[in-house]
Amino acid sequence: MLPLQELTRKNVRSLTPYSCARDDFKGRNAKVFLDANENPYNAPYNRYPDPLQQELKAKLSVVKGVRPERIFLGNGSDEAIDLIYRVFCEPRIDNVVAIAPTYGMYRVAADINDVEYRAVPLHEDFSLDSDALLAAVDTRTKVVWLCSPNNPTGNALEREAVERVLLSFHGIVVVDEAYSDFNDYRPFRADLDRFPNLIVLNTFSKLWASAAIRLGMAFASEEIVGLLNKVKYPYNVNDLTTQAAIKLLADLQHINLWRATLLKERSHLLPAIAELPICKAVYSSDANFFLARITGADFVYQYLVNNGIVVRNRSNVELCADCLRITIGTPEENNALLGALRRFGH
Ligand SMILES: *Cc1c(COP(=O)(O)O)cnc(C)c1O
Repeated sequence: MLPLQELTRKNVRSLTPYSCARDDFKGRNAKVFLDANENPYNAPYNRYPDPLQQELKAKLSVVKGVRPERIFLGNGSDEAIDLIYRVFCEPRIDNVVAIAPTYGMYRVAADINDVEYRAVPLHEDFSLDSDALLAAVDTRTKVVWLCSPNNPTGNALEREAVERVLLSFHGIVVVDEAYSDFNDYRPFRADLDRFPNLIVLNTFSKLWASAAIRLGMAFASEEIVGLLNKVKYPYNVNDLTTQAAIKLLADLQHINLWRATLLKERSHLLPAIAELPICKAVYSSDANFFLARITGADFVYQYLVNNGIVVRNRSNVELCADCLRITIGTPEENNALLGALRRFGH
């Protein structure tokens, strides 16, 4: 890995971040707060939230096994994705390399930040082609985007291939593990000590069933987290979100029950879909969704919509011709899908 200084944009290196009113004040039993031009009425919403969300990070640290200084919290993973461009990539000069197909936000954020985006196809079986990926890298490549389990293909990337990229590439490697709760592989956030160039993304939007509160996590070295914190909006995570997350963390039983239910449903639904005459292939899944290759996918998609069931049509995505991406729902929802597909053509 190049020194972090060299990977970081010059303007970010020399940036003096915004100083919050309460940064100057370090506790010491004050009772009267006249420093931030807040309205003294309407507690608790009248006060600015903690810019570093320390209470929430302390609780997350226990659940995720990552020290609080190595946790960045943002307005969804989307915020972390955008910040990674803004911290490391000089517009029109630097580039990033990603797998294809993959999660669409990496490209959208590249386009918004005017950074060249190089897409390297996965193998036909959706495994990572680390040779091709590393061949696409040049001296101006700052970031490699990996998504594991990958969206929309559903498979976890082979750890050995990912480690090869981490060890060989001179820049930042992002491993987006939004779906890592749905398999038993060792998560990459457990290996931050070994890989100083690693950023792992997690989210509250999937297993944690809280897409609406917009809370994403990035785990990385203290130095990288410091850079993300320097560039983010001072109060990027609001107090309603923080309180909802703290409440959820106090009730891990729910999370475990949801996981068990969804995994059981996944194990029923995949073979049932595979048996349908219109199904050409079902790809094994390490996530809470799976990809199915369907004869006449566009037509079947529309048929399902007409029956009030929405899946994701990925048939125009590379390597995914005729593929529908199906999220695991409740047993009732999955049965509704199966019933509709069984009635198709009758
Ligand atoms: C759903 C998803 C996310 C979650 O994004 P949020 O902004 O946290 O909701 C991140 N990465 C991937 C690959 C996803 O599929």
